[in-house]
Amino acid sequence: MIEITPFVFSFRTYNENKKRNFLIPQLGNVNEQGITLSNELISYHDINSTTFFEGYLVISFSKYPILGKEISSWYISKNNCIILKSEMIKDIKLAFDLFATRNAVTTRVCGHCENTIDWDNHLDSQYQYCDECHSISDKHGLLFSNGEQFDICPETGYYDRLGKRKKYEYFIFNKKLYFRTTKYFGGDNLGIEFFHKNILKNCMFLIGVPGTLIQFYKANQGHHPDFTELAEANFASRCGELKEAADLYTKMQMRLPYFPALHYNLAIAYLQSNNEEMARRYFQKSLEGCSNYEPTLKVLRYLTQKERGSN
Ligand SMILES: [Zn+2]
Repeated sequence: MIEITPFVFSFRTYNENKKRNFLIPQLGNVNEQGITLSNELISYHDINSTTFFEGYLVISFSKYPILGKEISSWYISKNNCIILKSEMIKDIKLAFDLFATRNAVTTRVCGHCENTIDWDNHLDSQYQYCDECHSISDKHGLLFSNGEQFDICPETGYYDRLGKRKKYEYFIFNKKLYFRTTKYFGGDNLGIEFFHKNILKNCMFLIGVPGTLIQFYKANQGHHPDFTELAEANFASRCGELKEAADLYTKMQMRLPYFPALHYNLAIAYLQSNNEEMARRYFQKSLEGCSNYEPTLKVLRYLTQKERGSN
């Protein structure tokens, strides 16, 4: 375990329009009790999380935080947080995470990066999600990945095997000349999509053909034995082939009945076909397998907000 001592930092706070609240930086420190900002303590108990956002540190609170007079004036009620900037935001977050997990009664350990996961407010589940490295490991710390990176694809929103992808477009389409290679970071899904979208068009000049074929091959080879149908299932789901996608996800779910990301993908598939009821059922199932699975919690928070907004 890394030892850490309380330390002092200077900071400014900002309002929701990124305007600073005061000119001259003030002093704060991170300690065993919480974070002190200009002599007012925010206890760990009241802090839900600290996250980086575009060079700022966002301190989000749990439901009804007890805040001092000054901190209250920086409080952004819409987001239940305060936003600060400091030269030391990385150190502040690290110290905060270490102190906070030290205060936690129940913890788990990530099977990938050995980060301590605070398990105080979570139900016992087969799997656990690590916020630091985004990996899913089982409660004994066993990992699935065979060295490959699996996570939510930033391009498609599905859980997938991630890697560098290239889209080759060398053709004339709708009277417009395309002559470009675009780089992406994303799932196998993308390699398959680029193939289906562009292979025929690329036959026009042939330049884009080999690359497109290689990308397709890369996306289809060397699959993890537990996720052999994953890329295909995701692609079917994105094409709106719900039944085919559901069949393929179910196949994998039979091998890994509690694995949260498979339920998550199926839920997303239902969500895309506007079946929110079925989507919620599978989101629920993904939490039964991993009660802190953040991608699911994120979507559920969004759905709840949307519901509130429409009422
Ligand atoms: Zn980790």
